[in-house]
Amino acid sequence: MLNDESPVPVADLLAGVRARIADACARSGRPDSAVEVIGVTKTHGPEVVREAWEAGIRIMGENKVQEAAWKIPASVSGPEWHLIGHLQRNKARHAVELFSVIHSVDSVRLIEHLERVAVESGRSPEILLEVNVSGESSKDGLAPDAVPAAVETALGCRALTLTGLMTMAPFAPDPEAARPVFARLRELRDRLERDFGIGLPNLSMGMSHDYPVAVEEGATWVRVGTALFGARPKWKPAPIGADTDDFSGYFND
Ligand SMILES: *Cc1c(COP(=O)(O)O)cnc(C)c1O
Repeated sequence: MLNDESPVPVADLLAGVRARIADACARSGRPDSAVEVIGVTKTHGPEVVREAWEAGIRIMGENKVQEAAWKIPASVSGPEWHLIGHLQRNKARHAVELFSVIHSVDSVRLIEHLERVAVESGRSPEILLEVNVSGESSKDGLAPDAVPAAVETALGCRALTLTGLMTMAPFAPDPEAARPVFARLRELRDRLERDFGIGLPNLSMGMSHDYPVAVEEGATWVRVGTALFGARPKWKPAPIGADTDDFSGYFND
């Protein structure tokens, strides 16, 4: 076998991912229409976005505002773009212009700032609150105890609409280790819906390694990169003034 044999088409990998989602839905008594795949295209170029779109993926996830600012205008039009990575306040204005859903809202200050820039830019993004369920210090996200105050703030916004919660499980070799994290996010969501008398339909949880477990625990959005697009290239950051029509070699992480 040659090293440079052509990669498996995204459409075939997507069929496999959807089959595993359908199995997980069957095991947990959920309709598979309840789960949507977000194609995490970070580090990949517009040609991968096109392949994902043509395979039938309707939502693309990016984790960096700067990368998305180059990639989205250069990509096929049609996909919904979601921000799934940490958002700094100084990039919030750009974020509301690029993304229809921001999964990674992790502080009251960020909510207030996003509301201000969204009103100013005439945008009305959906937001999810990112929760650090596991309490790992390396993870972004609100502590579970801090979530009600953030919900309160979000409900007072007119430009932003809060539609759910997001989490990242700590990596462990056995995906079963993530199950309690996903279950606790769902329980927190259920409690917030009761306490505030609101609907929070979206649960963004599960990645390539653990999405079947997340689906069994109620995920509505799974964020899948590697299992659809292969290992991510390790690119260098774009040089200042780089030719933004040529994406090759510019993405970091
Ligand atoms: C990169 C990333 C993913 C996708 O990770 P894979 O393991 O490649 O599926 C999901 N969620 C977030 C927040 C990410 O940054």
